Amino acid sequence: MPADPPRILVIEDEPSLADSIRYNLELEGYDVVVAKTGRKGMERFRKIAPSLVLLDVMLPEMSGLDVCRLIRSQSDVPIIMLTARSSEGDVVAGLELGADDYVTKPFSMRELVSRVRANLRRALEQEGEDRGEELVIGPIRLNPGRHEVVVDGEVVEFRPKEFQLLEFLMSRKGRLVTRERLIDEIWGSDYYGDTKTLNVHIKRIRAKIGDKKKPRRWLVTVRGLGYKFVDE
Ligand code: CA
Repeated sequence: MPADPPRILVIEDEPSLADSIRYNLELEGYDVVVAKTGRKGMERFRKIAPSLVLLDVMLPEMSGLDVCRLIRSQSDVPIIMLTARSSEGDVVAGLELGADDYVTKPFSMRELVSRVRANLRRALEQEGEDRGEELVIGPIRLNPGRHEVVVDGEVVEFRPKEFQLLEFLMSRKGRLVTRERLIDEIWGSDYYGDTKTLNVHIKRIRAKIGDKKKPRRWLVTVRGLGYKFVDE
């Protein structure tokens, strides 16, 4: 029996845009559920457990950012924010609240569909990695089970916090991880030390994995936001 198609929850209050998104995603074979307010979106979310959420920021009753925070408090589902071109602040806020990606309005349906596809694929890869499979990026291999990092075929020693950081970042390959999320994840939300600690750890990790501007950088700094591992 074929697997059920991925189910996508679209939380968007503008009827013509919501219809157009639904139409195009259904053409791609996805199962689409639309909600027009944040509150309804959360109801549907709990009911259908979607594989991905498309979330408008400007929603009546409850803002998309609040919806994002709520979803993230209970699920790792990929969230793509739909934002207005002029609202860079919303993008930053959304990413800090745990959204995975964003597209700015107006966007082409082709672009939207390709983002949906990429985020679903990433989530699937992530599931495999959560089962303790080896993480590989360029010359770096991290084995969570053996707690071992091999760079260019040589075992490299990592301190516990460095290892945790590296594993967290590698397991989110291609995704921006904000500084706040990293500090929260590795040091805990009650951490009040200054953010230099994170800089120092990142610097040590880069030295150990041989990550330099030249010949190439695997762990990229996203200015003002955080870090991400790239593999291309
Ligand atoms: Ca809207």
